Amino acid sequence: MKYLLETYGCQMNKAESAAVEALFRERSWTQGSLEDADLVLINTCTVRATAENRAWGRIAFFAAEKKKRKFSLAVLGCMAEQYHQEIKKKAPAVDYVLGTFQKQALGLVLDQIEKGTSFDLREDAPAYVFASTHHEPGAFRAFVPIMHGCNNFCSYCIVPYVRGREVSRDPEAILAELEALAAAGVREVTLLGQNVNSYKWQGSREVLDFPGLLRLIAQKLGPSVRTKESGIGWIRFLTSHPKDLSDELISVLASEPLYCRHIHLCLQSGSNRVLDRMNRKYTREYFFGLVDKLKAAVPGLSLSTDILVGFPGETEEDLEYSLDAMRKVGFSYSFMYHFNPREGTPAMRMDEKVPEKTKKARLARIIALQKEISETLMNERIGAVDEILVESLSKRSKKEILGRTARDEMVVLPGDASQIGRFLNVRLLSRVGNTFRAETMNG
Ligand code: SF4
Repeated sequence: MKYLLETYGCQMNKAESAAVEALFRERSWTQGSLEDADLVLINTCTVRATAENRAWGRIAFFAAEKKKRKFSLAVLGCMAEQYHQEIKKKAPAVDYVLGTFQKQALGLVLDQIEKGTSFDLREDAPAYVFASTHHEPGAFRAFVPIMHGCNNFCSYCIVPYVRGREVSRDPEAILAELEALAAAGVREVTLLGQNVNSYKWQGSREVLDFPGLLRLIAQKLGPSVRTKESGIGWIRFLTSHPKDLSDELISVLASEPLYCRHIHLCLQSGSNRVLDRMNRKYTREYFFGLVDKLKAAVPGLSLSTDILVGFPGETEEDLEYSLDAMRKVGFSYSFMYHFNPREGTPAMRMDEKVPEKTKKARLARIIALQKEISETLMNERIGAVDEILVESLSKRSKKEILGRTARDEMVVLPGDASQIGRFLNVRLLSRVGNTFRAETMNG
C-alpha cells in the first residue's frame, strides 16, 4: 500500500506528520505519488489565511484527481479541527476528516483502507494523544512535542480554537523518547508546544512545571553523557510566551549547558495599547525587564521574536514603539508579518482596521530595521570562537559544510559530509548576508 502526505504549517504539524509517517512505516506502507498512492493525506494549517487558502486549493486539486483514479483522501490538522463539517459539505470527495484531537483514529482508517472498506469517524474524540516522535533514519535533529493547545486566546490567533486547551505530556514518555532518540544518533532536540512555558504535569504527589521538566531532562541527558560523536548535546524549545517565562526557568537556562543560548520570545508589538488589544497580558516594560534578567543570567544569549504590524487601531506612534522595542532588545532575527483577520477570532470584529497599503509600508519599515540590527549584531561577532552542530553540506559547494551555533546562527566553513551531525569549535571570520563564514578549530 502507498501513501502521499503533504504537510503545511508549523513545527508541531511537521512533528505530527513525522509520527504519521512512522505509523505508515510500521504497517509497511511506502511513499507513493499522485499516480499510485492508495491514500492521500493533507496535514493542514489554519493560522494564516494564505495557509488556509492553499489547503482548500490542495483539497480541490485532489478531489478533481479522484475523478480520474480511485484513492482515499484524508484531511488532517488544524483545518480539519476547525472546519470539520464545512470540509465534508464543500468537498464530499474527502473521505476522512481528522482534527488534531482525532489523529489517533488514523490507525482505524488504515485498517479500513487495507481491507478495502470505509467507515464514518465520530466527530468527537476524548482526549489529545501525543504520538511518539519518529525521525528520518540518520537525521541528527528531532522535534519532541511536550504540550499541545493554548489557553491564552490572543485576540488575533486561531490556535486555541483549533488546537483546544493546553494538555501536557507525561514526563516519563518525554524522557523515554529522548533516550530512544539519543540511541538513534540524534544530537539536537527541540521541545515543542504552543506555549512551552506553561507545561504542567500533575504527578501522583506534585506538579512538574516547565523548569522542573528541563531539570529532569538535564539530569538524565546532561553533557556528561555527550561525546564528540554521540549523545544529545543541545536542547532548544519553542514557543515561549513572555508572561509565563519564570525566574526559575531563567535559573535553569543559566545553570544547564544542555539548553541552547537562544530563546524565541514573541513580542508581537512594542506598544502597550496594542498589546492590550491583542490580549497578550504583558506590557513593554515587563518584556524589557524579562530581557534584562535573561541577558544578565545567561551571557551570550540571543533572542529572536515575532512582530505583528497593522493590528486594528495601530497608529504611527504605536509602530514607533515597536521599532523602539526592537532597537532596545536587539533581536538577532524576527518573524515579521502584517495583520490578516482570521475568521472566528475577536480581532476579526475589531474596528479601526489599518489600510492594506499602510500595513505593507509598516512591514517594510520593520523588516529594514531588523536587517540593520541583525547585521550590526553579526558584525560584532566576527572573531568569536563558538561551537556549531554541523547540519549538512553547504548548498553552494560540496567542499563546504553548514552548521548552526547554540545562538541559532548559520555558519559555513570548509569541510566534508563525514562531519555532519558533529559538534565543532569554529572561529567566525566574516559575514555574508545572514551567514557567517568560519574556520574550524579542532579539525
Ligand atoms: S499564545 Fe497567543 S499567539 Fe500563541 S498560540 Fe496561544 S493564542 Fe496563539
